[in-house]
Amino acid sequence: MSIRLVDIQGKLAEAGLKATQQRLVIYKALHDSRQHLSAEQLYRIILPDHPTISLGTVYKTLDTFVEKGLIRRVPCEDGTLRFDARMDMHHHIFCEDTGEIMDWDDAELNALLAEYLKKKQLPGLEVVGVQLQITARRQASKPDTEA
Ligand SMILES: [Zn+2]
Repeated sequence: MSIRLVDIQGKLAEAGLKATQQRLVIYKALHDSRQHLSAEQLYRIILPDHPTISLGTVYKTLDTFVEKGLIRRVPCEDGTLRFDARMDMHHHIFCEDTGEIMDWDDAELNALLAEYLKKKQLPGLEVVGVQLQITARRQASKPDTEA
């Protein structure tokens, strides 16, 4: 489902950011993609409808969004940096074959992690978040006997 402009305006205002056209366009494109995109991928999606937005602006705007807690960075196994507009607790599966990142919601895993971290004290540190990235590849398909 695509996000309404008024909702993005609300998020920007809450974060203390002015709702410029570029910010609205960039946030909406990332949110509505439902994917974890790099700045370059996002730029390529935006470009056809908004040819005046530069790649530099996309980078800068994404950094601002991260600083303000509107989106988060997702460093990837393949060395690329992706961005995620979903801020609730969830984990990621990185597919080695496609380079795609999929969301992984698992209440049982969240409960296990919370329980574990409650018992395990990290010296001098306070846990403020946990996010797993599971690296996976497609299983070799079984011989296709039905075709
Ligand atoms: Zn995600």
